[in-house]
Amino acid sequence: MKNFAVVCRNCQTQTPFTYPVSRCPHCGESWLDAVYESAPEGPQAWQSRLCLYGANLWRYRERLPLRDEANIVSLGEGWTPLLRAHNLGLMLGHPNIFIKDERQGPTGSFKDRQATIAISALKEAGITEAVIASTGNVAIAFSAYAARAGIKMWVFVTSSVPADKMREVALYGSEVIKVAGTYDECKRVAAEFAASKNLFLDQGIKGIAAKEAMKTLAYEVAEQLGNVAAGLDPSLLSGDHHSWQAPDWYLQAVSGGLGPVGVMKGFAELFDQGIIDKMPKLACFQASGCAPMANSFHKGLATAENVEDPITDITTLATGAPGAAYEVIRELIHTYGGTIEAIDDAAAFEALQVVARMDGLSIEPATAVTFAGLFKLIREGVIQPHETVVVNCSGHTFPVEKHIVGEHYTRDVVLEEAGAAYSARQEGLLTALEDLDARVQRIAIIEDNPDAARLIRRILQAQGDYLIDEAYNGVDGLVLIKEKRPNLVILDLMMPDLDGFAIVEAMKKDGRLQDVPIIVITAKELSAIERQRLDGKIKVLLQKGSFMDSDLISDIRRVLP
Ligand SMILES: *Cc1c(COP(=O)(O)O)cnc(C)c1O
Ligand SMILES: [Zn+2]
Repeated sequence: MKNFAVVCRNCQTQTPFTYPVSRCPHCGESWLDAVYESAPEGPQAWQSRLCLYGANLWRYRERLPLRDEANIVSLGEGWTPLLRAHNLGLMLGHPNIFIKDERQGPTGSFKDRQATIAISALKEAGITEAVIASTGNVAIAFSAYAARAGIKMWVFVTSSVPADKMREVALYGSEVIKVAGTYDECKRVAAEFAASKNLFLDQGIKGIAAKEAMKTLAYEVAEQLGNVAAGLDPSLLSGDHHSWQAPDWYLQAVSGGLGPVGVMKGFAELFDQGIIDKMPKLACFQASGCAPMANSFHKGLATAENVEDPITDITTLATGAPGAAYEVIRELIHTYGGTIEAIDDAAAFEALQVVARMDGLSIEPATAVTFAGLFKLIREGVIQPHETVVVNCSGHTFPVEKHIVGEHYTRDVVLEEAGAAYSARQEGLLTALEDLDARVQRIAIIEDNPDAARLIRRILQAQGDYLIDEAYNGVDGLVLIKEKRPNLVILDLMMPDLDGFAIVEAMKKDGRLQDVPIIVITAKELSAIERQRLDGKIKVLLQKGSFMDSDLISDIRRVLP
């Protein structure tokens, strides 16, 4: 915590750190970074001291911009789980996709990192009142931490921020000012208010706290991936010097761009000290209705062209004027590789559903933009199957907006009037329960790889009303098909003893089974001869690891009688 200084992005002047610094004393630039004197002891000594600290981001306190740990304002943020995306990975054929689950922060987004550092720093500086502009999540996070620190927050949000989010801000005791305008206008109003009242204005990405906060995400990822590489539980707090690892890719949806700038600073610090041996490539995603960075990047512009009137339902990402953040991110991508892509709202909402039903994560629309971006880059072959990918799962869906699940997401049970006779009510209840499960179509899954069988079962369970039977080898599979007479067979080809080809042939010879449609899901490329053996006998051929759940479901709906 001790040996750091402030360096100006514009003139590179280094000045000793005194809080709250908001401008370079030399040239007036407001984009400032913290630099740390590398300790003469070497990085290993620091790594092994980590075992002194617990499972939150303050375990890296020796490299965070606070003088006295008595000023730490914490709600247990950071050290969020690094989850392997099992089902998504299987579906996409990418085994090393990791989800950094930032939804599990105290207020449900990765802005908790920013809030704990920024509010602790304000407390250290003796500041008791501050102003911030936000697209929602920063407002919530800062308000929670400010409450604990005894700091009054003036929070400026746009009127498009969901009402539930604004209510949470108010709940923490902040003043909520709703600005009818774009986020960039909202930031201007907040700045003018702060100046007129002489209140501290959080500088966001330009300030030190925010970037230093986000770098802890890189530290955690490197430490956790090191555990994974050593065959350990990713969340193990070893502090050991077994090697930390950088991923091949870091993926995030961006608005102001704070996350990628801070995270890449974190990886760079580790790389400079030889703690990791490479830098990740950086992929950023924006909502296409507000994609100044993605558009400017693809036009090859050195500075961003602003979007004056963002048109997107994804409010969290509505920064139309990214300023210097674009230049920094563009340079990071030119140096280390990567891209900035625009994602349609519709693709994001689809991805939101896929992630929820396939891997059990309820994410907010902004986060869904990242997953839609992941799917895009995998489909385009930009991200390769062997690469390790870390997805910033930046925030939770509170609440799930209605347009995401549609109108008919509940099944309604209507009972007899309370006045009806007891026996009539019981009768009504039984009929209602029977109607709840009126599945008639049977699907048989014949698949010897248990993970693949689970994936297919999951897709059928989540999106269809089917009775599912499974067999894990060809012999049992054929028995099952004969016994259950399913409406559809989903078949693997490569199985020991009786393979999929033999099952197809046996079914075609059996008068009662020859019309049952077959969908083949195979791991290998078929030869011309193998294709010929299946020709005309199966309805669909899907390659394992290259389809989405919606592809399979639409094929099923198409071929089911
Ligand atoms: C703030 C936020 C983003 C965008 O992050 P930046 O790094 O500030 O651009 C993405 N997702 C969620 C959930 C956020 O709260
Ligand atoms: Zn300067």
